[in-house]
Amino acid sequence: MNAELDVIIIGAGFCGITVAASLKKFGIENFVIIEKGKTVARIWKNAYERLVTQNPYFTLPFFAGKRNYSTFKTKDEIVDYLTEYAHHFQVYDHIRFDEEVQNINKINHQIDNDWQIQTNKDILKCKVLVICTGLTNEPIILSFVGQEDFTGEIIHSSIYKNGIPYKNKKILVLGSGNSSAEIALDLYEHGASSIDMLIRGKRWVFPLYPRLRSLQYWLWQIRSYFKRLFHKHTVDTKIAAMEKAIDFTPEELQVEINEYDKFVRRFALDLSAYSIYPEDRGAIDMEVNYGRVAWVDRGTVKQIKEGNIKVIYSHIQQLTKTGVIFSNGESKDYDAIILGTGFRPGINKILRQSELYLNLDDRLLPKTNGKCQSVVDPTLYFVGFEKKLGASGTYGYYGWCTGKRIALQLQNKQFLSPQKLHI
Ligand SMILES: Cc1cc2nc3c(=O)[nH]c(=O)nc-3n(C[C@H](O)[C@H](O)[C@H](O)COP(=O)(O)OP(=O)(O)OC[C@H]3O[C@@H](n4cnc5c(N)ncnc54)[C@H](O)[C@@H]3O)c2cc1C
Repeated sequence: MNAELDVIIIGAGFCGITVAASLKKFGIENFVIIEKGKTVARIWKNAYERLVTQNPYFTLPFFAGKRNYSTFKTKDEIVDYLTEYAHHFQVYDHIRFDEEVQNINKINHQIDNDWQIQTNKDILKCKVLVICTGLTNEPIILSFVGQEDFTGEIIHSSIYKNGIPYKNKKILVLGSGNSSAEIALDLYEHGASSIDMLIRGKRWVFPLYPRLRSLQYWLWQIRSYFKRLFHKHTVDTKIAAMEKAIDFTPEELQVEINEYDKFVRRFALDLSAYSIYPEDRGAIDMEVNYGRVAWVDRGTVKQIKEGNIKVIYSHIQQLTKTGVIFSNGESKDYDAIILGTGFRPGINKILRQSELYLNLDDRLLPKTNGKCQSVVDPTLYFVGFEKKLGASGTYGYYGWCTGKRIALQLQNKQFLSPQKLHI
């Protein structure tokens, strides 16, 4: 077992790295980041090749990077940028790559320094634990009646790289999220002989350009809000400003969501002629409250309209040796099925007594105070799971605010809360 640490951060994505940068800035040195991948931002590193971020001019707080990046960073640029960011704040050497956390346990709730983290290589102990393992950690893999008879390939979108192996093949893509839409387009551009998208729910669809404009509008609002909030330009003042900017009550957040939804609704595409229908609640409401991100089109819609990608609005009833029987009675042959069926956080897989720390709903998200701190244990933080506006734009804010809070907590030695003693 290694020496005892002040802080362990699990995950070297946007959240983990910004927490680390902030800890360092506020004088905490005795921490490690455990990352199961071989680079930072493993999710981006491993994703399909054509992936670019939907967020224009995406950067994290206090460092925009030294090299010139694309307006919409490519997946490799995201990895490069986060690597540059980690070096800039001198936290890169704190990362233990290629090491996976398998079990988290609090040995004794009455005692400080008692988080025990078991990895595939080591057992570590720390005073404060920060879980930054992301909302998209675990692919959701569906299984179907008759699957064992199907002779084609079935893969999840997280495994898909590009359309080269699928040239001249008949492909079924499940889902209407951004991954499904982009993979369908990629297959078309790589010469798949037929591409069907199986859509069974509703989904908002927006063209890219107005989304860019609406995001810029929102960023502009945030910037002017910050400007009003502070005049000095010290890091600390900016963090205080960030804390205020993300410190909404649930009611205030819902008001913001409704306002923003009113604004973006006018840009939505009407694809009902192609069996793609908007959700009953607003697009931002769906993203923030239900984790269902709108489809921001990068060319798939044109191919649907031209008949090169077909939408099937149905369910899979069963697989056969050569294809699929749908619940609408249609049946078709396929060489491969690609599951754009999404992800879940999967924190419950590593956190012992997870029913204590997580909401027992569909997504098993952590019980926090809205500022990333567990309501069950003040020495436990979950960054990257809060309901928020602005997606990636806010991951960095939460990371920095949490790092600062933990640094103060360590400096003031506030570990046990009164409620804690009753667990
Ligand atoms: C294909 C795809 C496209 C996306 N596009 C966008 C986009 O355009 N805009 C946007 O805002 N968001 C997008 N997202 C959402 C994405 O989750 C966020 O952009 C961002 O990556 C979240 O940062 P994070 O730090 O919370 O989590 P992540 O970036 O997911 O980082 C979590 C890290 O934790 C590590 N980890 C997990 N479990 C363990 C363990 N047990 N032990 C050790 N390490 C572990 C993972 O390897 C990973 O590196 C996309 C997601 C996917 C999958």
